[in-house]
Amino acid sequence: MLGPVLLAAARSAGVRRLVSSTPVTRPVVDRYIAGERLDDAVTAVRALTGRGLEVTLDHLGEDITDPAEALRNRDAYLALCEALAALGLGERAEMSVKLSAFGQALPGGHDLALANITPVAEAAAEAGTTVTLDMEDHTTTDSTLAILRELRRRFPRTGAVLQSYLFRTEDDCRALAGEGSRVRLVKGAYKEPASVAHQRRREVDRAFVRCLGILMTGQGYPMIGSHDPRMVAIGQEMARRAGRKPGEYEFQMLYGIREAEQARLAAEGHRMRVYVPYGTDWYGYFMRRLAERPANVAFFLRSLATR
Ligand code: FAD
Repeated sequence: MLGPVLLAAARSAGVRRLVSSTPVTRPVVDRYIAGERLDDAVTAVRALTGRGLEVTLDHLGEDITDPAEALRNRDAYLALCEALAALGLGERAEMSVKLSAFGQALPGGHDLALANITPVAEAAAEAGTTVTLDMEDHTTTDSTLAILRELRRRFPRTGAVLQSYLFRTEDDCRALAGEGSRVRLVKGAYKEPASVAHQRRREVDRAFVRCLGILMTGQGYPMIGSHDPRMVAIGQEMARRAGRKPGEYEFQMLYGIREAEQARLAAEGHRMRVYVPYGTDWYGYFMRRLAERPANVAFFLRSLATR
């Protein structure tokens, strides 16, 4: 019950002000966010890659309402590209972007987002790395996949995210299972209506397994974005059956979640990539993490009560 309430709150300006101004929020936020500044992100990249992990960096921002913000977000990613070029890690450090931070939801948003993301994809290619387009709510899926197709013409390493909770996703997996395609499969983190998405956990999990089967037996590069031990085990088994060696697929988990498991998979020789968010606009990302795990909310509320 709490999950949908938190997901609705993730898009409420009033709750955003309340949560963001509460000092005790900070320690809970810090579990999930590498820091507010680019330097913090670089420190996290050094630490994680030093431990044999790979990273994808997210400069936090989403649902912008002003085109000027889109330009600021683009510039933040361009600065990130420069920092990654200096680190020289190639695709061991790539970037994740939310197109709503590049103007996708504004009037003329599709073209605006494409215009703003293109220089980032160019800079990423020059820095020897690439970009993965995060997937947001279902109203954006068509536009995001169209932008992906456009970018892949010039930057074929551009990746996409597909969400197993959406009914359409098995078809999208088939369409994106071709050679050179990089797809992160996740369960999905937004509040979606029953007309477009599975509502029950078990159905989402079953769909995840079906989708993963399509990606693993295809010609592309599957990226398994889940902390769920069952999905990780199934992913390993499917990769083995499909004759894929480590490096022909990868696991991905979020910064601060199941770190021992991240280390274990890397130590076993799997490619393990950590999604590292940084920046000041952490509210929406943080609320989705609370919604995924009610125990986090209890911890957060206890901190409030003991003040
Ligand atoms: P669950 O069944 O939700 O979780 C399995 C176990 O993982 C839990 O029992 C718990 O131990 C642990 N866990 C999960 N979430 C948390 C948490 N918040 N705090 C602490 N422990 C937790 N969603 C999108 O809609 N679009 C995206 O672009 C997107 N990108 C993602 C990128 C990566 C690398 C990952 C890992 C996830 C991404 N997600 C994205 C989120 C995803 O859709 C799920 O909401 C999220 O991963 C939780 O699902 P799960 O597969 O981990 O399984």
